[in-house]
Amino acid sequence: MKIIMLGAPGAGKGTQAKLIAKKYAIPHISTGDIFRENIKNGTDLGKLAKGYMDRGELVPDEVVVKLVVDRIKADDCADGFILDGFPRTIPQAESLTEALAREKMVLDYAIDVEVPDEVIIKRISGRRACTQCAAIYHVDFQPPKREGICDTDGSELVLRNDDKPETVLKRLNVYHAQTQPLIDYYKKEEILFAVDGTRSTDDVFSEIEEHLGD
Ligand code: AMP
Repeated sequence: MKIIMLGAPGAGKGTQAKLIAKKYAIPHISTGDIFRENIKNGTDLGKLAKGYMDRGELVPDEVVVKLVVDRIKADDCADGFILDGFPRTIPQAESLTEALAREKMVLDYAIDVEVPDEVIIKRISGRRACTQCAAIYHVDFQPPKREGICDTDGSELVLRNDDKPETVLKRLNVYHAQTQPLIDYYKKEEILFAVDGTRSTDDVFSEIEEHLGD
């Protein structure tokens, strides 16, 4: 099963992508997580991506396209994958379609998690990320057992640079200008499935499961 997740930053697409990956036993490929891992490890890719990310801008298409196209050729993607945070622009979507066509593959589903901007802003400002394992918490909706400390590895939880209020507004503008057009792109491809992402994680996942089947 080959799936992409669409939706604004903070819509909950990462959470849903992880649940889908687990249920259908396919790799979860998050470009944001790949960039953050590279930043943590001080790689050239991390150094390149950091400035764009901290400003709430997109990393250039050619960088991210190469990364994803190489990744989906790996053996563990032969039976499918779920892409989370890619594509984010029409050129990225076109490159993905072409790369899959070269391997005689097509996407099965594009899942759009819909959440209004004002809900997104509320969600992201309360979000806290583990500095070590990247686990995500929320001060109100999903607090850690001990304030400011990751349940999994005891590391410090922080507000990510790109989750700061002024950067969130920028990311939402970038989303509306560059990523939202993908909804029409995948509607035309007849693989779009939209879910109301303002509900609980479990409710959203149930609807997705129903659509994807067993
Ligand atoms: P995310 O965690 O998916 O919200 O991604 C965090 C940041 O990584 C984004 O704000 C971008 O700067 C960068 N990024 C992730 N995926 C992409 C992509 N497909 N194209 C360009 N930049 C990306």
